[in-house]
Amino acid sequence: MPFQSLGIDPRLCTTLATLGYNVPTPVQEKVIPLILQGRDLMATAQTGTGKTAAYVLPLLHNLINSPASPALRGLILVPTRELATQVERSVRTYAQHTGLTSCAVYGGAKLSTQTKKLESGVQILIATPGRLLEHLKLGNVSLESLRLVVFDEADRILDMGFWADVQTLVALFPKKRQTLLFSVNLNKSIKRFSEICLKKPLTIAL
Ligand code: AMP
Repeated sequence: MPFQSLGIDPRLCTTLATLGYNVPTPVQEKVIPLILQGRDLMATAQTGTGKTAAYVLPLLHNLINSPASPALRGLILVPTRELATQVERSVRTYAQHTGLTSCAVYGGAKLSTQTKKLESGVQILIATPGRLLEHLKLGNVSLESLRLVVFDEADRILDMGFWADVQTLVALFPKKRQTLLFSVNLNKSIKRFSEICLKKPLTIAL
């Protein structure tokens, strides 16, 4: 199976086959093996290219192949509630036979509903930066077991005015982690962004 030849766990490949994902997109073909090698990445990718699965599948692969833990291990930061709900839907679809738990937290929605979900324990969190900081201040979530952090649409995260929040969050992340940054462009601001959160990243133009 083509996804399996990229190194993705057969259990996930079975789910992909039922979804009709028979071949990886070019973005997935390029990025998945590098993520599985544990590299930090800075990649340009438009939406509609299959970039969500390109980072979610290696995340799920790593989690199902490491000792089970109820702690939060994967964090996906996004600029808007729309993208948060869309990415969470994808995570739930790809993770449907894994037993892994996820939830999305974003501004403009009730804190209490999100708090309840966080308290029930999630291994993968999709969040907008400001709302994640609110939950951290309230002690609703801990970042100490984080292994993989993804910034999706990093350029829009900056456009939405989240730079200060991003700096605060990066200082709270565990030092030992893998970080991926996806952006439509790689301008000066994104380079500065990458410098505070990525270690020896590969830069990929897709
Ligand atoms: P994205 O670029 O992540 O927004 O994905 C765009 C669309 O492509 C989504 O609707 C995915 O469900 C779909 N998709 C992603 N990867 C594949 C694949 N390998 N085969 C078929 N559809 C895919």
